[in-house]
Amino acid sequence: KKEQLQLLSSVDAVTKDGAKFRLAANMNSLKELDTALQNGADGVGLFRTEFLYMDRSAFPSEDEQYEVYRQVAEKTGGSPVVIRTLDIGGDKQLEYFPLAEEENPVLGYRGIRITLDQSELLQTQLTAILRASTFGKVKILYPMISSVDELKMANEVLQLAKEDLDSRGVPYDAEIEAGIMIEVPAAAMISDLLAEECDFFSIGTNDLVQYVLAVDRMNEQIAQMYQPFHPAVLRMLRTTVDAAQGAGIPVSVCGELAGDERAIPLWLGLGVDQLSMSPLSLLRVKHRILNTSAAEAREEAQACFRLRSSMDIEQRLSRFAATQQ
Ligand code: PEP
Ligand code: MG
Repeated sequence: KKEQLQLLSSVDAVTKDGAKFRLAANMNSLKELDTALQNGADGVGLFRTEFLYMDRSAFPSEDEQYEVYRQVAEKTGGSPVVIRTLDIGGDKQLEYFPLAEEENPVLGYRGIRITLDQSELLQTQLTAILRASTFGKVKILYPMISSVDELKMANEVLQLAKEDLDSRGVPYDAEIEAGIMIEVPAAAMISDLLAEECDFFSIGTNDLVQYVLAVDRMNEQIAQMYQPFHPAVLRMLRTTVDAAQGAGIPVSVCGELAGDERAIPLWLGLGVDQLSMSPLSLLRVKHRILNTSAAEAREEAQACFRLRSSMDIEQRLSRFAATQQ
């Protein structure tokens, strides 16, 4: 079975009736990049850069970061590499950068909130990313955006990084795209406004589900309440995809839900054609896409959008998945 799936690595992810998906990989370490490429990933849809900052005694320098980003850009060839800026705080801590104890760390000082507050961190990282951008197709992704002002501030720091490189005479891709994670409900609700200020969206369902449902994604005691198929989540997804399409920018999904084959009809129904997932999920999801009828799946999605409970939606999608063999 594993060998059979491996044969699919060089096959396009197209449904039986011709709807095509781009399947990219999430990457949490350099080692995962090799697995991703072996499994035919169409680039890196989410490069979580936290590992570069972990298990060390000080922040990585611009040069150290540049070396890693360049390597990844080169290895990925012409396919896009979407590099997310540092997303610490919440559950992720750095030993050399102690954060104050918080009542609700997940609602606190994390992600872009930290790197806008300590903007030299963001500028150093963006400079390193820009320098790597001449070695492949590199894109920038900001995490945890919840307002237009935050996005504008992040883009101002990007501008400073570009000016710094200009003054140093260092080349970079002047057309580099910058997009945002849609993972805070506020961002989904103002996605039409955010779409005017950025080049693409990447929906982070892990945090979006947590915040929409007010259910801690790490809390075992309420794990059964963590429901990615909740109608409220589906509505957020629809609002976001509609806004992206209205503005003519691409939208992809990079949370765990992207690697859940039961969700394939939702992507077809919404009009999402790029998914980014763990490298280990790529071939399984591709296999399922190859066996799916997009026409039937779209109808299925419309039915799901009318259902009233996550259990009903999940059951319906599971049943449908079993019919597409
Ligand atoms: C997400 O929140 O869905 C996401 C992809 O980011 P992370 O899991 O790193 O928070
Ligand atoms: Mg997240």
